[in-house]
Amino acid sequence: MDKFDAIVIGSGPGGYVCAIKLAQLGVNVACVEGNASLGGTCLNVGCIPSKALLNASHNYHNSIENFSKMGIEVERPSVNWSKMLSYKDTMIKDNTKGIEYLFKKNKITLINGWASFVDNNTISVNGKNFEADHFVIASGSEATSLNDIKFDEQVIVSSTGALELKKIPEKMIVIGAGVIGLEMGSIYSRLGTEITILEFYDKVLNGMDHDISKNFKSILQKQGFKFHLSSSVSNIAKEKKGVKVTYEERESNNLNELYADVVLVATGRKPFTENLKLENIGVKINPKGQIETDKNWRTTTKNIFAIGDVTPGPMLAHKAEEEGIAVAEIIAGQAGHVNFEVIPSVVYTDPEVASVGKTENELKEEGIDIKVGKFSFMGNGRAKTVFSNSGFVKVIADSNNDRILGAHIIGPAAGDLIHEICVAMEFGASTEDLARTCHAHPTFSEAVREAALACGVGAIHS
Ligand code: FAD
Repeated sequence: MDKFDAIVIGSGPGGYVCAIKLAQLGVNVACVEGNASLGGTCLNVGCIPSKALLNASHNYHNSIENFSKMGIEVERPSVNWSKMLSYKDTMIKDNTKGIEYLFKKNKITLINGWASFVDNNTISVNGKNFEADHFVIASGSEATSLNDIKFDEQVIVSSTGALELKKIPEKMIVIGAGVIGLEMGSIYSRLGTEITILEFYDKVLNGMDHDISKNFKSILQKQGFKFHLSSSVSNIAKEKKGVKVTYEERESNNLNELYADVVLVATGRKPFTENLKLENIGVKINPKGQIETDKNWRTTTKNIFAIGDVTPGPMLAHKAEEEGIAVAEIIAGQAGHVNFEVIPSVVYTDPEVASVGKTENELKEEGIDIKVGKFSFMGNGRAKTVFSNSGFVKVIADSNNDRILGAHIIGPAAGDLIHEICVAMEFGASTEDLARTCHAHPTFSEAVREAALACGVGAIHS
């Protein structure tokens, strides 16, 4: 029987990063992966393919909308969908091969197959047993459907099917105005699909700062999105051609029907623990199906850890990675830590949306005396040159000591700008620290500095 110091189950961002860190710390480690390709949801059917299609569709749309404004005259470009999908597949392959290379470089044993626990020191993969002192469960998540409606991944699709559609639909209904729904909707909207969003709550990106939700909805409406908020979907039925979605307006209880070629159900994801036979190790699962851990990611069975999407917390690749690193450090006898107050969240639409820390409403509900500094990209020269000045930066700080408690950005490169605030928050910086830091001109990041100034003496360019 093969024996290791630690075995990681799953090679998504949580699992593969944990395995690499363990190897770097001198731990004899193996990683088990059931899928033929490494990288988990993120690399195969999540972050990477969606960003590839967002990039391709953005360039297509930009060439139509903006090229001629800048004196670049091209004949109207057209979309070669199968080539666009091949580009996306190449990006997946390049990234997953990169993990294979990193595993070899770090001498990590890869075990192909689905792992199930025999006892708390043994797993079985393809009928063969493997032993370890420690296990890290990083088995991830899968898309949830609505009312037990089955995905056929052609007409009724999850995000996985939406990344593989045979042709660009004329009409698409997206159920769920969260990150995945709005990103996938953006891809197809830019390629000419009519997008209708059905959302249970009365706003988009529920949970994000209210100013962001409001502004983002109106930007997307200008891009052609149609919204039915406060709407509860009661049925999805396949038609001879396409699909019919029945929904109830929650305020009036009126029932309505919508027709489209494709419906994307983007209402959330659930932890994936199939195959693991957790009953053999007595690990505690909560009512949401997530594996419960203590603050050091130990499950109720002490030598077994769990990280990433299969555990509570935001379902984000970088959250899984941070936990993977911390657990590796703990297994190697070091102190591992993740600051959950400073986990950024990004929506890779155009403009991008990014957020870190608490929202204005959350802080007010906690009774914290806050001040808010806002700066519009209208006053940012660089944003004007790229025709993207409809958003803003909002920085929130404690009124008593000026410490930054959160930031919410909608605008060009928001997903990169947010990290300036993340670093500031990690160092316990004040808005004055940020405002007194010289920012290069002309950059989008000047808008962050201006928002910090707006928390105190006042912005210069507004
Ligand atoms: P996963 O990535 O799900 O990996 C789990 C792995 O474990 C899988 O490969 C699975 O095959 C394997 N596995 C499971 N059970 C077993 C077993 N018994 N034996 C062996 N192997 C097993 N997050 C972001 O931060 N940024 C984004 O831009 C982003 N975009 C997304 C877009 C889409 C369309 C989707 C669906 C998700 C997106 N996410 C994004 C979320 C991100 O993909 C997940 O948060 C992340 O992949 C979670 O990592 P993980 O390691 O916990 O699990």
